[in-house]
Amino acid sequence: MDRLKRIPVREQDPDVRNKNFEEVCHGYNKEEAVQEASRCLTCKNPLCRPGCPVNIDIPKFIKHIAEEEFEESAKTLAKYSALPAVCGRVCPQESQCEKTCILGKRGEPVAIGKLERFAADWARENDVDLSDKEPDNGHKVAIIGTGPAGITCAGELAKWGYDVTMFEALHEPGGVLIYGIPEFRLPKEKVVKSEVENLKKLGVKIETNVLIGQTVTIEELFEEGFEAVFIGSGAGLPKFMGIP
Ligand SMILES: Cc1cc2nc3c(=O)[nH]c(=O)nc-3n(C[C@H](O)[C@H](O)[C@H](O)COP(=O)(O)OP(=O)(O)OC[C@H]3O[C@@H](n4cnc5c(N)ncnc54)[C@H](O)[C@@H]3O)c2cc1C
Repeated sequence: MDRLKRIPVREQDPDVRNKNFEEVCHGYNKEEAVQEASRCLTCKNPLCRPGCPVNIDIPKFIKHIAEEEFEESAKTLAKYSALPAVCGRVCPQESQCEKTCILGKRGEPVAIGKLERFAADWARENDVDLSDKEPDNGHKVAIIGTGPAGITCAGELAKWGYDVTMFEALHEPGGVLIYGIPEFRLPKEKVVKSEVENLKKLGVKIETNVLIGQTVTIEELFEEGFEAVFIGSGAGLPKFMGIP
């Protein structure tokens, strides 16, 4: 195997994909993922890791794939991210973790995103329980908005034992992941909804069709017993500060 070259990832043929809206990229199968993961040099001071905004232990999850320990790989990812199947598809890896991969200096960087996607998909397809959490601590937190920011905050707090309720103005959770990024790039039913289900398995409650500020105010949330509120309402509308 040429360590400097990536294992190519399978995609729909252009003549097929111009007639459907299904996901273009098929991702790696088991054999391809193991081969690609085996390219990783498992650097002592990995440069990929600081390139990741959530500091995922990248060499560790990739080593588990190389050793065919797919469940352990998914569990390693779950410690750092509530959205591995989403991020494995739409995170700009080429300008983050993969940009700093040492193999990229002389050849092609390890396909970190595609491997993240593989481990997360494998866990979903094999019903791996990723709901490891600390005991309940009795503190209630409200999260406004169910986009990636709200989901991430909810996932972290739930793992630490907080009693988390998310409020979403629209009829479905997910924010831009649901209504912005197209199906051929990020499948909704298979990927987004399944990562939202993982949140529920951690005990997170989700209330849709609730526009905070109109249906309920933040003051009312505090009166209802929430001790903290995280506002993850996105940047759907511009709001100018009126500063010349
Ligand atoms: C077309 C498009 C394509 C994109 N593609 C990519 C990509 O490929 N890769 C990438 O990394 N990023 C991409 N992005 C950017 C990415 O989607 C955003 O950075 C991300 O969604 C921001 O997450 P968020 O949770 O802050 O907000 P959002 O995803 O906007 O979620 C905010 C949520 O809060 C809800 N909300 C707002 N106000 C209230 C309220 N008062 N009460 C209750 N709920 C409320 C909204 O309904 C929404 O569901 C794309 C964005 C767009 C628009």
